Amino acid sequence: SGSTQSISSANVKVVVRVRPLNERELEKNSRIVVDVVDDKMLVFDPKEEMRPFFYHGVQQPNKNLLKRANKELQFVFDHVCGQNSTNKDVFETTTKEILVSLMEGYNCSVFAYGATGAGKTFTMIGNEEHPGITYLTMEHLFYTINSFEKDREFDIGVSYIEVYNENVYDLLKPSKTPLQLREDSKYGVMVAGLTLYNIKTARELLNMLENGNKNRTQHPTDANAESSRSHAVFQVYVKMRYKTSSQLRIVKLSMIDLAGSERASATGCVGDRFKEGANINKSLLSLGNCINKLADGSSYIPYRDSKLTRLLKDSLGGNCKTVMIANISPSNESYEDTYNTLKYAARANKI
Ligand code: ADP
Ligand code: MG
Repeated sequence: SGSTQSISSANVKVVVRVRPLNERELEKNSRIVVDVVDDKMLVFDPKEEMRPFFYHGVQQPNKNLLKRANKELQFVFDHVCGQNSTNKDVFETTTKEILVSLMEGYNCSVFAYGATGAGKTFTMIGNEEHPGITYLTMEHLFYTINSFEKDREFDIGVSYIEVYNENVYDLLKPSKTPLQLREDSKYGVMVAGLTLYNIKTARELLNMLENGNKNRTQHPTDANAESSRSHAVFQVYVKMRYKTSSQLRIVKLSMIDLAGSERASATGCVGDRFKEGANINKSLLSLGNCINKLADGSSYIPYRDSKLTRLLKDSLGGNCKTVMIANISPSNESYEDTYNTLKYAARANKI
């Protein structure tokens, strides 16, 4: 079945977040390959400053023949959050404004994209000291609905699930049995049998998210001991009943911590690990395909190609607002991952 949804630049925003160097990178004194120029522009693999070379006090011509040529690629995005940016800063430039659309009745989605270790989970969940944008967004949502309570009644339900190996699991009530997707006339795409937790404050969320995150399927791999191969999907259902008409409206906000975007081949995985990798690529690839097709104004959007895109079918395209947060490390150690992420994000940015 086809779809005539289209997406415009007003509906998709791409924000790049550069994390600070970690201890290992600092110890290695690794080169910084991302130069944040301003709040919209960065240069990948910038030319290093030409350090004048003196011999007996006389400046010599630069003869750095062995060095490979720097790419010096300029990228422009809706926003660039530099190394010193806080989760609050990211919230201010990403999800704060989509809450306006949510209150107007449009489903919205937010993705954290990037290689393992690039800062996706820090951005989405964060820690006690630095709560992530999921918490900050929910805090602002409760603040926002306050101002609407004169003429609407609200009911907020949340769920936290993972898509792992093309199967859906509840992170708040762990079980080995995968859940099925179905379509509901009121709720849109739903996970059958999934419990929605009613919450009244953002605080109630903190433990939920932390515990849920601990339930994510993780496997140590050769490339990275903290490699995460699952997509974590946090969803908020906002039920609003208009007091005058009694009309009921349900909107959805989805916040997705995507699996690492590094290639399966780079991690040297075989067997089961390889299958996981293949499936992750399937969902990520499929997400990219859907976004590209929406951008092209295609009448056929291949939502059915993966679990993730099936799940988000009613939250991508049309008047839905989408924010893609591309997480990168500034270190030369992650050169290829960063380059790939920037290319992916730049493609999404053309929309
Ligand atoms: P990912 O989820 O993409 O694999 P993480 O969010 O787990 O990556 O980040 C990897 C490590 O870097 C974690 O220890 C995390 O706390 C740290 N980190 C990531 N982003 C930041 C940041 N902006 N500021 C401070 N530490 C960060
Ligand atoms: Mg993570």
